[in-house]
Amino acid sequence: MGKLFFTPGPAQLYPTVEKHLVEALHSDLGSISHRGKQFQKLFTQTTENLRQLLSLPHDFGIYFTSSATEIWEKSLASCVEEKSFHFVNGSFSKKYYEFAKELGLSPFKVEAEMGFGFDIDKIEIPEEAEVICCTQNETSSGVQMPAHDIHALKDKYSSKLIFVDAVSSMPHPHFNWTKVDSVFFSVQKAFGMPAGLGVWIANEKTLAKANELKSKGLLKMPYHNLLTLAENGKKHETPATPNVLYIYLLGKIAEDMLKKGVENIRKETKTKAELLYNFCEKSNLLEPFVKNKMHRSETVVVANTHKPAADIIEALKKENIVLGSGYGNLKEKQVRIANFPSISVAQVEMLIEKLCKL
Ligand SMILES: *Cc1c(COP(=O)(O)O)cnc(C)c1O
Repeated sequence: MGKLFFTPGPAQLYPTVEKHLVEALHSDLGSISHRGKQFQKLFTQTTENLRQLLSLPHDFGIYFTSSATEIWEKSLASCVEEKSFHFVNGSFSKKYYEFAKELGLSPFKVEAEMGFGFDIDKIEIPEEAEVICCTQNETSSGVQMPAHDIHALKDKYSSKLIFVDAVSSMPHPHFNWTKVDSVFFSVQKAFGMPAGLGVWIANEKTLAKANELKSKGLLKMPYHNLLTLAENGKKHETPATPNVLYIYLLGKIAEDMLKKGVENIRKETKTKAELLYNFCEKSNLLEPFVKNKMHRSETVVVANTHKPAADIIEALKKENIVLGSGYGNLKEKQVRIANFPSISVAQVEMLIEKLCKL
């Protein structure tokens, strides 16, 4: 401990993680049964806190997996008979698309270059696509799909399911829950927890689609599919022995975020994003990678560097500050700065001050 992490996941821990983990161990949560009242109560508490935090209606269930990667696979395998449609503009959205191919489906995609988003009015989605898969926050490039663009897809293609990877932005995006069907995230990004838990939010329509696949004999996934998660979820349980400790921890962090107020958290995120982008625009050291302001991620700021990125990262490391490196082959020329709720406005200001001196 002691370092400050601006990495986009695993990320800086939420300030209350330590306190809650100690409390969890004192309450024997590492040893309790996952088929008993104590766990069911804990599961209910966590899902209710998340429901309140996200203003989630009751036709949506909340299910736990081991990662978001697992949800890429399970969402496609549980709900797509043949064809999904994918918005691809970086490494994460591309993997979601590739999972569909690996599963033997015939996915469609529209692809934008790294650093670019989509002009969704100009994109026609084929009639045969059953599900539209969006990556709300493309963590590799720092490009976002604004929530209103995702909602517009539902307006135009109301019979298709809309699945949203919001892994590196939740709880920041403000979704209209009548316009999305499934949204998922993992906890090591903006919730500031250690990695090891995926969260899948899915509505009745998503479940109905999975039931349709099942009735056709197409749902063959013994290790978790949407229906096994939902059946167990009804009993406030999970199909396998889950990460009880983290389900508890997530409930507590959601509670802390509720106390702070989700609108305050969103406002602070916007303030910090503005500070970072304004700095990058004026700086001789950094420059925003994403040119279109509408498509700039508010939770993961990606910047081109005018010095070798490794030098900047090294210099900050000496100050106990950890920046994210550029993704994949952009490693040498970019840095990624996570702007998650665990980082305060003062800490962003402090980072900017240090960057000014480099
Ligand atoms: C990190 C990330 C994932 C993968 O999350 P895991 O918890 O590692 O499975 C998926 N999508 C996006 C956009 C991410 O940033």
